[in-house]
Amino acid sequence: MAPKDDSLARRVLKGDIRATAKLIRLVDDNDPEALPELAALYPHTGAAHVIGITGSPGVGKSTIVDKIVGKFREDGKTVGILAVDPTSPFTGGAILGDRIRMQRHFLDSGVFIRSMATRGQFGGLTRSTADAVVALDAMGKDAIIIETVGVGQDEVDIAHSAHTTVLVTIPGMGDDIQAIKAGLMEIGDLFVVNKSDREGAGKTVRELQFMLHMSSERYQESGWEPPIIQTIGVAEQGIDDLYQEILRHREYLKYLDKNELKRRERLKIKRQLFELLKEGVVNEIMKKIGGDEVLDGIVNDILDRKSDPYSANAELLKRISGSA
Ligand code: GDP
Repeated sequence: MAPKDDSLARRVLKGDIRATAKLIRLVDDNDPEALPELAALYPHTGAAHVIGITGSPGVGKSTIVDKIVGKFREDGKTVGILAVDPTSPFTGGAILGDRIRMQRHFLDSGVFIRSMATRGQFGGLTRSTADAVVALDAMGKDAIIIETVGVGQDEVDIAHSAHTTVLVTIPGMGDDIQAIKAGLMEIGDLFVVNKSDREGAGKTVRELQFMLHMSSERYQESGWEPPIIQTIGVAEQGIDDLYQEILRHREYLKYLDKNELKRRERLKIKRQLFELLKEGVVNEIMKKIGGDEVLDGIVNDILDRKSDPYSANAELLKRISGSA
């Protein structure tokens, strides 16, 4: 669908910052007004390099992102940053934090920073992040960095919408290593041990090396063995290595077998479609049930033992299918 002259989509395509900010806000609010705009933008996407940076709070993600953005800018590339924090109830705080940490880039029109704030009861963060990526990609950003906090399912899901995923940890974070072992390993294209000025950095690198070694067969097959990069974010040490590895991963993706590339893209699209579908279906179901209040009433009945989850579920399903 061709966008109207004065539409948000048209303005986003021209690189209009306010229009893009507005669209991302609509996306974050799950406002249906965003949908025709996103549909109009979608054909203009696919050129940006989407990079996910994830790790526990305090490992130095924002510090690293700030420095990496500097590298992209030196190369004349524009950057969009999405800070996603599903754990923090204080969105305002997150935005303020970004402002302070990214001050250096705040007046640079080649850098666009937004915090994603979706607090939908039924998720939606993966969907809204993917939609925001569409907006930034269509706006013409060369690189889009998605910064996620934590190492949970949300991060795994969001990482799937990135081309290159960077996992950041620090010395002495045994829990992180466990989380990586338990499932994050597969999404990491690059591993960073930040705060390498601290004691134990070598040990953390060895632990990661050992884990990667255990999966070496898979990496031989894919042709990409995730590098482990030691950095000291605050001193900008190792940042150039990290930047070069991010670019090298981009090149690796470009030269992947065409069929493999298609397979990955197809998977990505299927996931995105499924996220949209899931949210749409849940919204429809909630409407049929009569909204959150009705659901809360049922929950209260179960709490008082006047009902039980099984009968309530059966009753709701009947109502949804219109037979009650
Ligand atoms: P985030 O929560 O993962 O985004 O972490 P931040 O980037 O906000 O960093 C958390 C704290 O660690 C800040 O006080 C940084 O100055 C500090 N920090 C970042 N990188 C390093 C590093 O390489 N070494 C040391 N010692 N401190 C660092």
